[in-house]
Amino acid sequence: MKLLSKYKKLLKDNQRIVQYFKPYWKIWLIIIVIANILTLLELANPLIVKFLIDVVLLEKNYKMLNLLMFAFIGIGMASVVIQYVYGYLQKRLSLSILFDVRNELFHHIENLDTKEVHDKTLGDFLSRITDDIEAIGEYTALIFQTLLMNVLMVVIIFAMAIMLHWQLTLISMLIIPFVVYSQKHYGKKVSEIFEGFRIIDASFLNFLQERLTLLPLIKTFSREKHELDKEKKKAKELIKTDIEITKLSNFSASVVGVLIFYALLFVLWYGGLEVIKGVLTIGTLIAVYTYIGMLFGPVQELTDLNISLRTSLVSIKRVFSVLDTKPKIVNRKGAKNLKDVKGAIKFKNVSFSYEPDKTVLDKLNLEIKPGEIIGFVGTSGSGKSTIARLLTRLYDPDKGSISIDGYDIKDIKLDSLRKHIAYMKQEVMLFDASIKENLMYGKLDATQEEIEKVAKLAQAHDFIMKQKKKYNTLLGTEGVELSGGEQQRLSIARALLKDAKIIILDEATSALDVETELKVQEAIKSVSKGKTILMVAHRLSTLNIADRIFVLDKGKIVEKGTFNQLMNKKGLFYNIHMLQMKEME
Ligand code: ADP
Repeated sequence: MKLLSKYKKLLKDNQRIVQYFKPYWKIWLIIIVIANILTLLELANPLIVKFLIDVVLLEKNYKMLNLLMFAFIGIGMASVVIQYVYGYLQKRLSLSILFDVRNELFHHIENLDTKEVHDKTLGDFLSRITDDIEAIGEYTALIFQTLLMNVLMVVIIFAMAIMLHWQLTLISMLIIPFVVYSQKHYGKKVSEIFEGFRIIDASFLNFLQERLTLLPLIKTFSREKHELDKEKKKAKELIKTDIEITKLSNFSASVVGVLIFYALLFVLWYGGLEVIKGVLTIGTLIAVYTYIGMLFGPVQELTDLNISLRTSLVSIKRVFSVLDTKPKIVNRKGAKNLKDVKGAIKFKNVSFSYEPDKTVLDKLNLEIKPGEIIGFVGTSGSGKSTIARLLTRLYDPDKGSISIDGYDIKDIKLDSLRKHIAYMKQEVMLFDASIKENLMYGKLDATQEEIEKVAKLAQAHDFIMKQKKKYNTLLGTEGVELSGGEQQRLSIARALLKDAKIIILDEATSALDVETELKVQEAIKSVSKGKTILMVAHRLSTLNIADRIFVLDKGKIVEKGTFNQLMNKKGLFYNIHMLQMKEME
């Protein structure tokens, strides 16, 4: 029963991979036909040699000898051509499948919930997208090259060898159970270690990725040696596991090699006796010896395949486990596009926590009228950014509802919802691309005129024009490094290009000096007539442009009103403001 369920499970994994083969069934079919022809060509050789020794050489038939040589050349040439086509088709098939799986995985990861992505390390994802996915390509190659061709070979060679000398063939087959047992035993061990290896590999990738991003930090703390020691430790662990896998695989291959060697030796000895006795011709002995030798090749490869398939399946399962993680934040059935947005926002009894029992928002209620400019104030960690994340559905509330213009945001299609919100964050995210390409992320078909207009509003145009290649200046690793303030201005320009009805500025101007910050805010206000603006501000003095201010404390709104109303109230807002004024003195 256990064996049956194990077999069923294996079949299910395989069936799932077969799904990816289906679109390419034509190539698959051609490969199978070619594999058959190749096998037949290869198998004809020992029979021709037998004919050569037993008939042609004995009869001293010169004409036949020459003909046979031409036959050999013909078969050889045909084999080379077919082998070439076979190799090409097989690689093309496995690369096509790889292409499909890679796209599916990338698309799937793009749509995963922020929480899922946040919970995994980057190295883990990278190793799944790169190394693990390669395993699918390997798997397809293995299935075709080894399984298909070898099964066919085994059947035909076995039949030939039996016809030539059944006793010798059957006796030499006695080693097969030992070969199978040995490969199964080691295969299981190797796949167990390999599972650990993939995890260590992912953690190593993550380590490297993190260290490369934090290189300036490592340098300023002079922790180069400290990090090198850590790197060595991780790399050693990786090598140790890899060596263990190699040792085990090689050992099992040696065991099989020795078994085959003895079986062939037996064929030579027993067959030799038969030739001396005159029962067997030399040609038949050579043919049987060659066939049995040929038989062990595929048998060994088939059992080796057990190990390779097991390790491939470890990787394939890691890929499937990502594909099986279903995002929760998806379009609800019947979700609609949001048209002609006015920009009214309502949070009704919204509760939310990132981790269980750690309430971030607690039955939060707020109502914002279309076109209002609202400031959010509160101590760090009070939940201001979380409000923005919930409004854009990067996360969904645990309880309560959020609506825009009276529509529950869960009833609005995700891309439609996000199209109407421009979300600018403190941490700027720019691609390693030109300034223009980065700005156009807000509107893929924006004209130069439109781009320059938003850049001017965000006070970015002047510094862009000072760059060597102006708007075509490359950013990032291969380009220029911009200051934090300059990056923030680009990010604001990019978001403005989106021309959304709801604008969220989540400390988006924190790296600017007070003067530029005010200029940017005034500019945003001037082009945002009728748009709803939510501003999370770190400097309360910049909240003068807000119509109303909400003060948050521990996930609840504790004060609300205009700047002056709140100052007069002398509550939390007043206290934070006074504290900031003192700091500035
Ligand atoms: P604010 O913007 O007011 O500074 P946030 O809304 O960013 O605060 O965060 C509120 C609380 O939620 C903080 O205690 C923070 O540590 C926690 N938090 C924020 N993001 C995450 C996350 N991805 N996972 C777990 N906790 C988080």
